[in-house]
Amino acid sequence: MLTILLDNGHGNNTPGKKSPVWPDGRQLLEWEFNRDIVARIAHRLDEAGIACHRLVPEENDIALAERCRRANQLARQGDCLLVSVHANAGGGSGGEVFTYPGAARSLEYARIFGQRWPFAFPHLRFRGCKEANFAILRESICPALLTENLFMDNESDCQILLSTEGRDTIARWHVDSIQQILQQFYSSR
Ligand SMILES: [Zn+2]
Repeated sequence: MLTILLDNGHGNNTPGKKSPVWPDGRQLLEWEFNRDIVARIAHRLDEAGIACHRLVPEENDIALAERCRRANQLARQGDCLLVSVHANAGGGSGGEVFTYPGAARSLEYARIFGQRWPFAFPHLRFRGCKEANFAILRESICPALLTENLFMDNESDCQILLSTEGRDTIARWHVDSIQQILQQFYSSR
């Protein structure tokens, strides 16, 4: 039995972390996006009968140390996989998944997310599995992934992030990948 720990980064009080205001007047706020995706993932996991827990029900920014404390409290009680959901920025397009350097099991899971990407976004690039010394990845005692879902500062990516279909597709990518992980690593035979 694996429990998915869903982390939505940032809060409504986090500075920066938003897209430009596009010509149509719309703007993506990353804290809202992350929470919406996590809610969609949680809903789909519930439907699929997969245990999950939202680490940050609050709207404001919860310190990383507290998020890790919440995660580790659960991870001490049973098998968990932490997934932290984000939107990327800095110029580019597509998706990527981060793991802590040398975290072998996390990397195996990240590769499954990479394999499942084309089923969700056949016309967008999966930029690869990457390693980073992020606190949420470093401090978690269970396998942990951080997904960067398209670029909020790229107008065409951001239109997908602002759309219901785009958000559903991102949630579907996560749940599909988690189901593959369960099949490959947790099925009884
Ligand atoms: Zn972020």
